[in-house]
Amino acid sequence: MTKPASVRRRPATNLIHPARPVSPGFRSLMPGTERASTVLFENTEKWKTRSGFDESIYTYGTSGTPTTRDLQNRIAEWEGGFNSVLFPSGLAAVAYAFIPFVQPGDHVLIPSNVYEPVKTLANGLLKQMNVIVEQYDPMIGAGIAAQMKPNTKLVWVETPGSITMEVSDLPAIAEAAHNGGALVAIDNTYSAGWYLRAFEKGADISVHALTKYPAGHSDLVMGSITLRDEATWRRVKDAALQTGQCVAPDDAYLVLRGLPTMPMRIQHVERVATDIAHWLIARKQVGKVLHPALSQCPGHLIWKRDFTGATGVFSFILNDEFGADAAARFIDALELFQIGASWGGVGSLALTYDLAKSRPNWPHKGALIRLNIGLEDLEDLKEDLLRGFAAL
Ligand SMILES: *Cc1c(COP(=O)(O)O)cnc(C)c1O
Repeated sequence: MTKPASVRRRPATNLIHPARPVSPGFRSLMPGTERASTVLFENTEKWKTRSGFDESIYTYGTSGTPTTRDLQNRIAEWEGGFNSVLFPSGLAAVAYAFIPFVQPGDHVLIPSNVYEPVKTLANGLLKQMNVIVEQYDPMIGAGIAAQMKPNTKLVWVETPGSITMEVSDLPAIAEAAHNGGALVAIDNTYSAGWYLRAFEKGADISVHALTKYPAGHSDLVMGSITLRDEATWRRVKDAALQTGQCVAPDDAYLVLRGLPTMPMRIQHVERVATDIAHWLIARKQVGKVLHPALSQCPGHLIWKRDFTGATGVFSFILNDEFGADAAARFIDALELFQIGASWGGVGSLALTYDLAKSRPNWPHKGALIRLNIGLEDLEDLKEDLLRGFAAL
């Protein structure tokens, strides 16, 4: 609250110090959007004793406004964690789930099917910091114990892998990692925290691209890290404060606006995606459908045990005779499914990935096509996919 202006001054000053607060007595169902660089203090004592870690107060735009704190608190509550920190993209959140927890000479484990930019980070800044990053098979489960080293500080899990859809045994990996003294971080973007309770399954750190289902409308990028306890939250918050990581209140408002409809949107795309996945199995040009709810998806039984549902992203593999050119023909013939990265918005998307490069032991010859199911009509989406099959 600003100090009230007791005297009217000259016009330019009065523009800056209004006589009355705005909209007294106004109440609405939605939060306001409160923007700030400068946050005002009532007196010098409060200024001198401020702390960026004290979330009962506001200190500066980078450490939060009521709008960004509202979102941060809702994410933390949604996930059942101690607290969250918001980042300007999902990838920034991924990076800040590593950086505060590693020192030169430390070892971390990432799955071989990980979201590709994590490998770039591993070979870039993490390597520059002399952090040793090793890959593990996402289906390894408790066997990961053999890859743990005395200096392993963090085990990264992404489940299901967002392109090849393997469902990892998070509880088994977490147990082995904890026995070896490492923290367990999960990229929980796929389930949006709705179908996988990360902390109940053993994770210490849960990362989201809020860009996807929480925002839900393909109009912003944002990420969050939620921490199980206060000690780990302080380390991530400290790193964010040191480097000025923060989000714009306007973007935070858009996520606050998207969140209430998220469960309903996810349940809808789950129904449509599962229907399309079963329908694809019956197409003679399709070799395999990688959707966690289908028994042919690696880790299907783990998904059944640990998840309460599937979302709207999945992949399928064409028969051996249909390579990269065929996949391009298929995708280019689609009218409703658009070509573009990301997912979780209202529009359906289709992409193909060259896995020979990123996954040396990838066993399939046929091309992989990854679909994001949006909110269009199910029958229209099937008719659109038939255009793709006709183009093969
Ligand atoms: C999209 C995505 C990210 C990164 O999110 P951005 O906001 O696009 O930077 C990280 N992990 C997974 C699994 C994603 O799908």
